[in-house]
Amino acid sequence: MPFREACAVFGTVSSEVPASLLTYFGLYALQHRGQDASGIASSDGNPRLHLHKGLGLVSQVHDEKSLGTLVGEKAIGHNRYSTSESNEDRFAQPSMEGDGTLAFGFNGNIPDTTLMCQFLSEIGKSPVGKNDTQLMSTILWHFLEKTGDLSKALKECWSLWNGAFSAVVLWNDTLAAVRGHYGVRPLVLGKRSDGYVVASESCCFDAVDARYMRDVKPGEVVFLEREYVRSVQIAHSPLKFDVFELVYFMRPDSIFNDESVYAIRERMGFQLGKELLQSGSRLPFDAVYPVPDSAIPAALGFMRATDIPVSFALTKNRYIHRTFIAPTQEQRELAQRHKLNLITDQVTGKRALILDDSIVRGTTAIPLVKRFRRAGAREVHFGSASPPVMYPNFYGIATPTQLELIAAQMSVSQMAAHFGADSVQYLSYQGLLDVLGVPESKLDTSCFTGNYPIDIGKHIHEIHPK
Ligand code: AMP
Repeated sequence: MPFREACAVFGTVSSEVPASLLTYFGLYALQHRGQDASGIASSDGNPRLHLHKGLGLVSQVHDEKSLGTLVGEKAIGHNRYSTSESNEDRFAQPSMEGDGTLAFGFNGNIPDTTLMCQFLSEIGKSPVGKNDTQLMSTILWHFLEKTGDLSKALKECWSLWNGAFSAVVLWNDTLAAVRGHYGVRPLVLGKRSDGYVVASESCCFDAVDARYMRDVKPGEVVFLEREYVRSVQIAHSPLKFDVFELVYFMRPDSIFNDESVYAIRERMGFQLGKELLQSGSRLPFDAVYPVPDSAIPAALGFMRATDIPVSFALTKNRYIHRTFIAPTQEQRELAQRHKLNLITDQVTGKRALILDDSIVRGTTAIPLVKRFRRAGAREVHFGSASPPVMYPNFYGIATPTQLELIAAQMSVSQMAAHFGADSVQYLSYQGLLDVLGVPESKLDTSCFTGNYPIDIGKHIHEIHPK
């Protein structure tokens, strides 16, 4: 089975600073999008590219020595998180083709790779053992050899790459980035004084001294040169941006739709507070306790709506990275215990509302409710600043199968009993739409609604409408 990947991509051309160094800083700022592997490929103008990649965090994979070998004005980079059980170094990216002359970095997922596998078999290349990135790069190389033109080759790939993605490509001395069908995954363009930058999220632009220019459009390829960016629109589709990027995945200091993700999350918390107040009774909470870090803006918004104070009694060991991303459940649970600590004297005697950005499996809620009770909380409620996650994400954000999604399996009251909580509170779907600042038609809301804008192929049989 091909493996899914959800990751960070980065690319830059720069005349004054080595492109690989900027890429390193860019990837560092995009570490939240993937911690399993990292890689950088650079071009010094010669056909054969320079490459360094391996398993681990950006700071573990790259060092001065390795960066010193990545010479040239153009570079692309990648951070990987494996959304399957597999974290092998052969899946580290960029993926290389054409005897080291093509490097390809990919964020997203092709839900059904049947077409790509068929195509490769037809042209006499084996798809066996390849993940979707490698299937894609092999196909891209095939069309590059045939056409000798990157835009044409990408256009040929388009119907075979039927999925959600953003990708960076380095081929000889050509640097390009492409945003896939419906722009489900993010891709943004930035300007430096001596060149350009393209990245999954704008939060990395400060680190590389770039300013945000604009989002790359769905179906658009951008070619980055020192003096200019050339744009080729190889396909047309409306934007359907994955709403879960806003709920959870993006860093709060990234820009979406001309505002920070922080501002959007703050409004989600505000809206949750407003909805609970509208339900009539006085809210039975003495404090709201955000699960750090992604729920903090929502807790502040909740406070703005309700005047219920925020308590930062849940503290995070910042040296432990995102636990959800750990490939196995055992690793996730172990990491979660080490990641969050509770300042118990802030909880004793309190009616607590623990607030998270989302509830997926319930891995976070169950132990936290227990710990709040042990710390002497009088009541423990659990809130989600987004609606119930009922459907898996097939577009490159790791969520479990529908069977493991707790909201797909239980009612809210069953969930409260399962968590040992006094209640479970969710932001409504309409409430979420009301505060995002973009119409529903521009969003991929599949994790809440089950409406998948891009064909999910055989996965449709794994889905049960609610
Ligand atoms: P769970 O604990 O299983 O209910 O999952 C919800 C928690 O995981 C929240 O704290 C989220 O911040 C986080 N989370 C939600 N979705 C994802 C994802 N796709 N990848 C990593 N973490 C996630």
